[in-house]
Amino acid sequence: MNSIRVPVVEKILSANDQLAFQNRQFLKSKGVFSINMMASPGAGKTSFILQTIDGLKNRLKIGVIEGDTAAVTIDADKVSDAGVPAVQINTGGDCHLDAVMVAGGLQQLPLETIDLMIIENVGNLVCPAAFDLGTDINILIASVPEGDDKPYKYPAIYRGIDVLILNKMDLLPYIKFRPDYFKQGVEMLNPGLTTFPVSCVTGEGITDWLNWLENRVKKSHR
Ligand code: MG
Ligand code: ZN
Repeated sequence: MNSIRVPVVEKILSANDQLAFQNRQFLKSKGVFSINMMASPGAGKTSFILQTIDGLKNRLKIGVIEGDTAAVTIDADKVSDAGVPAVQINTGGDCHLDAVMVAGGLQQLPLETIDLMIIENVGNLVCPAAFDLGTDINILIASVPEGDDKPYKYPAIYRGIDVLILNKMDLLPYIKFRPDYFKQGVEMLNPGLTTFPVSCVTGEGITDWLNWLENRVKKSHR
């Protein structure tokens, strides 16, 4: 046998990828469509998830896993108040969720009765991109106030996503954000990426997003 030195980071990722694979099979066997929602802190993940729950809860059964770096249950409480099963994963300071944490969270949810599982990742644009959780799709919620240069600064996360939400469109008139420059950066990294410009305040774009998601979930159940 050749002895090849495998960098530590690669070893961690391959263990994570194995578990992500198991999560994916497990969720599939339970008929659950799942989403990994990533974003920087303050992009409006929880508000967007609440809007999604509100819009789809009469059409789909939804469950939520909330990743947080501390034991505060603010976001998990909001989701529970919205009337869907939610479990919080406290990463104990870690800046991302991994497949092991998600596997633990899944054990605590009534998967048999869930059509759509939304996983809110920890607010961070760097390492969540490197940890597959085993979800069907990966989504990034960007927001206008973060600036139009984010695709250029955080290429890895933009490359790995299936859907992009551009949130807080209602702030566009007040902020120096060049939609064309932003779009160019995204297109360079992830050509043809499905994108929904939305506002959780005015409701802009939310209906398109809900219809798209409901379609995807129903297709996956066929
Ligand atoms: Mg949140
Ligand atoms: Zn991290």
